[in-house]
Amino acid sequence: MRFILYIVSLLIVGSITLQASCLDLVHAYPNFLKTCQGNSLIWKDGTRMRYDDGRKKSYQTMLDHPDLEDMFHYIYPKGSKNYGKTPPKNFDPGRIRYEPLFRKMYGNSPRVVEHNLKRISWLPRSTRRRYHISITRVNGVAKQLQRVSNDLDNLVRRRPEYLKYLVPLGGTFMWRRIAGTRRLSIHSFGAAIDINVKHSAYWKWYGKGKYKYSNEIPLAIVKIFEKHGFIWGGKWYHYDTMHFEYRPELLLK
Ligand SMILES: [Zn+2]
Repeated sequence: MRFILYIVSLLIVGSITLQASCLDLVHAYPNFLKTCQGNSLIWKDGTRMRYDDGRKKSYQTMLDHPDLEDMFHYIYPKGSKNYGKTPPKNFDPGRIRYEPLFRKMYGNSPRVVEHNLKRISWLPRSTRRRYHISITRVNGVAKQLQRVSNDLDNLVRRRPEYLKYLVPLGGTFMWRRIAGTRRLSIHSFGAAIDINVKHSAYWKWYGKGKYKYSNEIPLAIVKIFEKHGFIWGGKWYHYDTMHFEYRPELLLK
């Protein structure tokens, strides 16, 4: 009897945590998503997406064939947590993306995504040259990135030496697959930004077969992006320190 109660409570706790992460999606993308029911994510337009496919996966399978639940497999460490440390092997919070979710929100083709792009000016108070960037207005991403830009302008006023990390920009929108994979980059949806490539590090640059974590981007810059819903690729084992993407569902915890 005790054993049965134990199993039942495990199942209840399991479905509550399953619901909790599913609801993080609803809270993060309220324009599109309505609620979670059982094992389904319910869209405002009535679409149902299966939340958990119930499969146990290796790291690689999770990247190549994720479900919505797998996106929460690694918990994104906010702020100074894990900053400056080599992440544990394959610890890639945010790198697992269930593509149908993003395609349905941001656009299923380059043309549709482009139609949703908005031009904003980047660090207008810190730079003499006017930098304009295009970013999606879907989910208010352009508005949030404008807030990032305002806060970075204030930061650069106090720390002028930080400007070199922020301009010239690496880029925002580009419909492309991640090198060597069939997965679309989040840049395809106009919801990501690469800051200055020159002061950045990427896990593959270090040398064939070798791995070493490396980063120059100051924590103050990372914190500003996170505050407005963007996660940083510098917290991944497969690090990409120029890269920020709009993933508010991973910043709610
Ligand atoms: Zn990027």
